[in-house]
Amino acid sequence: MTSPVPRPGILEIKPYVGGKSSAAGSQKPIKLSSNEGALGPSPKAIAAAAAAAAEMHRYPDSQSTALRAAIGKRFSLDPARIVCGSGSDELIALLVKAYAGPGDEVLYSQYGFTMYPISALTVGATPVWAPEQGYRTDIDALIAKAGPKTKICFLANPNNPTGSYVTGADIKRLRDRLPPHTLLVIDAAYAEYVSRNDYSAGVETVDGSDNTVMLRTFSKMFALGGMRLGWAYCPPAIVDVLDRVRGPFNVGAAAQAAGVAALEDLAFQDRVRAHNDRVLPWFVGECEKLGLSTLPSVGNFVMVRFPDAPAKSAAAANEFLMARAIIPRAVANYGLPEFLRFTIGTDEEMKAVVAALGEFLK
Ligand SMILES: *Cc1c(COP(=O)(O)O)cnc(C)c1O
Repeated sequence: MTSPVPRPGILEIKPYVGGKSSAAGSQKPIKLSSNEGALGPSPKAIAAAAAAAAEMHRYPDSQSTALRAAIGKRFSLDPARIVCGSGSDELIALLVKAYAGPGDEVLYSQYGFTMYPISALTVGATPVWAPEQGYRTDIDALIAKAGPKTKICFLANPNNPTGSYVTGADIKRLRDRLPPHTLLVIDAAYAEYVSRNDYSAGVETVDGSDNTVMLRTFSKMFALGGMRLGWAYCPPAIVDVLDRVRGPFNVGAAAQAAGVAALEDLAFQDRVRAHNDRVLPWFVGECEKLGLSTLPSVGNFVMVRFPDAPAKSAAAANEFLMARAIIPRAVANYGLPEFLRFTIGTDEEMKAVVAALGEFLK
């Protein structure tokens, strides 16, 4: 008897480990493991999804027409250059499927998002990473690793899990120095949180080339992770390719409706950003008072570094917090065992984290 054998590469995949969502005890856990917006979704998005539910026997609009129009309006982009997906994860997978295969390389930064190597292995391509400097993407290291086989280079900006970012000028330099046959995918999942003058989500680089794509998601600032909604801003030829490889009904009707309503609720977006701008530095300051260092972050999460002593290590802190129904993200699978990543939650949640960390370090 011979059983079915998957294609080369598939069994090398270490399955994606999502943030845990339950912890010890019966109390509602404080879930800070998946960077979901602290204030939840806009009430208008919830209402729009509920209204769409009454029509759930109908197939969704296969072109996500209203959603692409709303994205175009909100971010001043041509809707014809936007492709929507079931989360940006789907768009990552589709780009890899369309542009890479056995013998090709997919390049990313050392502590880049794990969906990049996972997607590469899925199609039999070889994941290649470039070393970071001080937990930051090293543009020159990426350039040095790029060659004739490099079909795609992924750049998460800001990066998850480290929280660091590269400037718009650096993105331009990367694009200029990568081979023209290398598709540069700028994954700007946290762009809506960033308020640095030298940051760019990558729109000008997409506009100025025919080999760059920007990915965005509704899962982080818009807090619609459960709806699965992401989008790509692309050159026309790449829109054409994605429209060929995606499923015709890849984005559900309730997700499309929720996305439109979330985009239109500008006041809610301002509240979410203001909350993060206030609570992230507060939490960092509290960690410092406890003697814990953090990595500078421009997203809605932060990496906290724990001491080497086994009793005070990140692994011990993770266990201690989980036993108190607080769920951080362990990042040992990223090669960062000395850190825990914390999403910025509500004021009450972050106060509970600080109190628990204080108790842990006593
Ligand atoms: C969360 C995240 C995504 C995936 O978002 P979805 O749209 O929910 O699939 C992609 N890239 C990065 C860097 C992320 O942190």
